[in-house]
Amino acid sequence: HIAITRVSKYFGKHKALDNVSLELKPGSVTVIIGPSGSGKSTLLRTINHLERVDEGFIQIDGDYIGYRREGDKLYELKEREILRQRVNVGYVFQNFNLFPHLTVLENLIEAPIAHGVPREQAVARAYALLEVVGLRHKAEAWSRHLSGGQQQRIAIARALALEPKVILFDEPTSALDPELVGEVLDVIKKLARSGTTLVVVTHEIGFAREVADNVVFMVDGRIVEQGSSEAVLNRPQHPRTRNFLSRVL
Ligand code: ATP
Ligand code: MG
Repeated sequence: HIAITRVSKYFGKHKALDNVSLELKPGSVTVIIGPSGSGKSTLLRTINHLERVDEGFIQIDGDYIGYRREGDKLYELKEREILRQRVNVGYVFQNFNLFPHLTVLENLIEAPIAHGVPREQAVARAYALLEVVGLRHKAEAWSRHLSGGQQQRIAIARALALEPKVILFDEPTSALDPELVGEVLDVIKKLARSGTTLVVVTHEIGFAREVADNVVFMVDGRIVEQGSSEAVLNRPQHPRTRNFLSRVL
C-alpha cells in the first residue's frame, strides 16, 4: 500500500507539486494524465526519492520513502539505504534506458546480481520474465539490435526483476513508432490483470479507459480531479479536465 500525503515540491520558486495526496492500493492501476509541465514526471520521481519532497511524505507499506522516523522527526536515509529502498519501486522510462553494450539476458540479471541474488536464480527469473513479455527467443540478442517496442518490453521485464511493490511508467509509449505502441500496452495490460500495482503516466486515453482503476488529472502541480476511469474520462466534473480531454481524444 502506497500513500502520498500532502506532498509539495519546489524548483526554485516554481511549485512543481502542490499539496498532492494520492493512495495506490495493492494491485491497482493508476493512470496519471495532464498537460505538459503539470508535474506528472516529478510526482513519479518523488515516489522513488529521485526528487526530494519539500513538504509532506510518501510511504510504502508504512515505511517513509527516503526517510526514517524517530519520534515526530523524519531523518533522511543514507544513500545505501535509499538504494535498498528503491528495490521496491520499478521504473520504466520513455526512452527504455537499457544497457546497449549488454545482451538482453545480461540487462535482466545485472541488478538482481548486484543485490545479491545468486546468478542461477537471477537467470531463471530472467527467462520467466522474458516469457511474460514474449521475448524469450531474444535472450542472447544485443539490446541495441532490438526494435523500440522490443526494447521497451525488455525494460518492463527489467523493472520486474527485483519484484518491486509498484512499477512506475513515465510515458512508456510516447517515443515509439505508432505501430509499436500496441505491443507495449499489451504487456502493461497483462501486468495489470496479474495484480501488479502500477502507476502509468500516459496520453493513451483508450488504454486508461480499459485498465485504470483510478484516473488522476493534474494541472499546475495539483490533482484537479481523480476517480474511476468512467467518472473522470466520461463524466469529467472540472472544466480543465473537460478541456484537456477534448484536445487529446
Ligand atoms: P510533460 O508532460 O511535458 O512530461 P510533466 O507533467 O511530466 O510534463 P514535469 O516534468 O513534472 O511535468 O515538470 C513540472 C514542472 O517542474 C515544469 O514546469 C518543469 O519545467 C519543472 N521542472 C521539472 N524538473 C525540474 C528541474 N530539475 N529543475 C527545474 N524545474 C524543473
Ligand atoms: Mg513528464
